[in-house]
Amino acid sequence: MSYDDSVGTAKGQGENARLDSLKQFRSAGRGFWSHVSEADWSDWRWQLKNRITSLEQLQKLMPTLTPEEHAGTVLANSKLALAITPYFFNLIDPADENCPIRTQVIPKVQETHTASWEMDDPCGEDSHSPVPGLVHRYPDRVLFLVTDRCASYCRYCTRSRLVSNAAGYDFHPEFEKQIEYIRKTPTVRDVLLSGGDPLLLSDDKLEYLLSQLRAIPHVEFLRIGTRIPIFLPQRITPALCAMLKKYHPLFISIHTNHPRELTTEVREALGRLAEAGIPLGNQSVLLRHVNDDLTTMRALVQKLLMCRVKPYYLYQCDLIAGSAHLRSSVRKGLEIMEGLRGHTTGYAIPQYVIDAPGGGGKVPVNPEYVLSRNADRVVIRNFEGKIFEYPEAADGTPLVKAPKEIEEPELV
Ligand code: SF4
Repeated sequence: MSYDDSVGTAKGQGENARLDSLKQFRSAGRGFWSHVSEADWSDWRWQLKNRITSLEQLQKLMPTLTPEEHAGTVLANSKLALAITPYFFNLIDPADENCPIRTQVIPKVQETHTASWEMDDPCGEDSHSPVPGLVHRYPDRVLFLVTDRCASYCRYCTRSRLVSNAAGYDFHPEFEKQIEYIRKTPTVRDVLLSGGDPLLLSDDKLEYLLSQLRAIPHVEFLRIGTRIPIFLPQRITPALCAMLKKYHPLFISIHTNHPRELTTEVREALGRLAEAGIPLGNQSVLLRHVNDDLTTMRALVQKLLMCRVKPYYLYQCDLIAGSAHLRSSVRKGLEIMEGLRGHTTGYAIPQYVIDAPGGGGKVPVNPEYVLSRNADRVVIRNFEGKIFEYPEAADGTPLVKAPKEIEEPELV
């Protein structure tokens, strides 16, 4: 039964109520930090200094740690560091073992279980790196890694080999060499600053990079990939926004997976970026028990639009070593896409992609809407399952037949 089929039933009413609740904007609040001054709480550097980074801190704040979480946290620093900003920690429901926020940032011992098909570098970035910290995999664009640090660490990170230095990766980007490579490579028209999280750099350092890149005539387009507006909305200061707006065209891709991450604080931070004229997109990863159901995903994409963010990609989770417990199935991903397309605003619909393992790049994955195709016609189905025929045009030959609806076959 689809979401729409269930409208009017008890299940449908329950899902509607859940959708409405997930779409509410709430503040993360102060939680355990009610004694902290407003000035400190709103200071991004205070948030970073006071992150939860050890089992001792976590146990004190959350005595409900499960045995799997306890064992995972003990081992966390041998794979991917543990860090959670106080702000983001307040979104966790300590009473819910399956809290979708908790699942994303608290380690579990399952991270140490690695299947033979899992990889440390699932996108093959290291083999496409002409200078340290630069990945040149596609002809006209490069990935510029600026830091290996993040405000908090996601347990499913594609760059878990690299971020936080917990696994001992030798990450030493050399900004001058990275910039020089781009300067000498005229085919590069698009530079994506990523990491780690570029917005952890100071305004001055970030401005230095942006100004150097903007001065290269063949660089048309700059992008920043960041989860900072979600983990640390305090970092999106008016001064940062004023600096960023000098380097247009500049786009920002944020990363959020669950509608509860979109708080009033995040909505305000994203509003500041939007007011600086920065087009905003979102990348989500399909994660088991986090967002692999239609109602949650529908709430997320609709709420993103309310924050002036276009849902951009929905990623099938990469085959990262130790991530099996977090990966959802492609079948579920396709069901969700089927439930979104036509059932909600087109702007709200991300492109579902699988990053082809080993470095094959992003491959779009869609439910089947083209049922058959030959030299004369294309048979397509719409979101309601109705079948239509569209006359194919030979190049340069005008259409002679109008599209028409054909008899609906029996659906299985
Ligand atoms: S913020 Fe991005 S780079 Fe950092 S741990 Fe999360 S997914 Fe990885």
